[in-house]
Amino acid sequence: MKIIEGIKKYSNTDRIALKCNDESLSYKDLDKYSEAIALYLKDIYGDENTPIVIYGNKENMIMACMIGALKSGRAYAPLDISFPIDRVFEVTKEIKPKVFFNFSEETEFGDLNVVNEDKLKEIIKEYEGKTISKENWVKEDENAYILFTSGSTGKPKGVQISSNNLDSFVDWMSPYLKIDGSEKVVMNQAAYSFDLSVTSIYPGLVHGATLFSLSKKVLADYKELFNQFGKSDMAVWVSTPSFAGVCVTENSFNQEMLPKLESMIFIGETLPKSLSKTLLERFPNTRVVNGYGPTEATVGVSVNDISQEMIDDEKSLPVGYPMENCKIKILDENGKELSEGEKGEIIIIGPSVSKGYFNNKEKTDEVFFYDEIDGVKHRAYRTGDSGYILDGNIYYCGRRDFQIKLNGFRIEIEDIESNLRKVENVKNAVVIPVYKNEKIAYLKGIVELKESSSLSDIKIGIAIKKELGKYIPSYMIPRTIKTIEKFPTNTNGKIDRKKLMEEN
Ligand code: AMP
Repeated sequence: MKIIEGIKKYSNTDRIALKCNDESLSYKDLDKYSEAIALYLKDIYGDENTPIVIYGNKENMIMACMIGALKSGRAYAPLDISFPIDRVFEVTKEIKPKVFFNFSEETEFGDLNVVNEDKLKEIIKEYEGKTISKENWVKEDENAYILFTSGSTGKPKGVQISSNNLDSFVDWMSPYLKIDGSEKVVMNQAAYSFDLSVTSIYPGLVHGATLFSLSKKVLADYKELFNQFGKSDMAVWVSTPSFAGVCVTENSFNQEMLPKLESMIFIGETLPKSLSKTLLERFPNTRVVNGYGPTEATVGVSVNDISQEMIDDEKSLPVGYPMENCKIKILDENGKELSEGEKGEIIIIGPSVSKGYFNNKEKTDEVFFYDEIDGVKHRAYRTGDSGYILDGNIYYCGRRDFQIKLNGFRIEIEDIESNLRKVENVKNAVVIPVYKNEKIAYLKGIVELKESSSLSDIKIGIAIKKELGKYIPSYMIPRTIKTIEKFPTNTNGKIDRKKLMEEN
């Protein structure tokens, strides 16, 4: 595993692997502690490779547990403290871990074998100085981690990512972000239960970078957050566009605050043009990168740098060129491959595609299959995203499952949203269908404005709808427009559509 090799390589230096608040963990200690944890796990599990579960936030020692699991030949399943306890139990019911590492303040876990921070210290002391042999490490197609994403049925689905999947991602992403072994600070903001965090952890630790961790507590305290940014020496920014959208509301969030910032990468949701423009203005020496991909294909499969030209173009921002060893196909409803510029479902084929969902053959068979690249068989995944390819670049056109019918018209909700974002004073927009008698009665647009207005919601709505009429047919224009000060976000930092639906 490249990540273990990377940690070993830098364990002979004085480099820092992680920083969280004022606490640091060196590569040397990360290597040492994870050896002890691996030996403990080996003693508990014997030859069984059942995964472990880790419940916590951004504590430095979580990384020692993750690496310890990998060194002992098993996967870890990280659950952020924002997971309510009932959801934690749903996961442990699936995984049946023999060891549950707890970094939260929660104490009641039924009959799970809980290792808390005090017990962890004892384990490290007990196994100090001993090492585990390389033969035990997670390898090839064995699982490295399992991330639980919400499933349409309400039961979380565990996406299994192997050592091979990760190596493919690291080999592609590290050079793109120039994470190259020179001492660099990489932002570690996304929760470990969200695949975006892998963009920081894996390229970072393979190449001796320092992960600058932002805890939930700091993320909730803007003054402290910007204070920490100012002291961070950050070179690589990794977040959702929503998080950066919040940061730009602070005027001092600019090149002066982060003078060493080389690149900002965004994956996971649509990167608005207005945000890209602000970032390019505020950080003239920094690359703004749009990346695309699902958890099921190891975080990301395409990237590109956003330019002023792309912002000025009337098309939406491209989500990038696919990585070299992966193939993107666009298929129509009958599974026929479409040609350049034609819109259909995005299919990903290649070595970064997961083997499927943990213990869930039915869901796995629905969306995973095998396909070929140059005669070689690979895993393939139906993303449920719609898009097209133009000049080698992928353009994302929304979720297929957000396609609706309104009065017989076929409408993509995100089509309306991206056009709403073109309206002059609109910063971001979400459109929700309003149901009556189980049928969509009308659409409601919820918008965040760039500049607040003293006009009433009705007057703002009329003006927005008038301008929107320039871009889309009238049947697509939401009947009502509501302004909102700030969109609610879910645990992954994306706009929480479910909450908006419930509240509106
Ligand atoms: P997740 O598995 O949480 O990373 O979510 C994956 C989904 O997020 C994809 O299938 C897309 O629908 C969406 N997504 C990821 N990257 C982008 C992007 N750059 N632009 C728009 N949507 C994206």
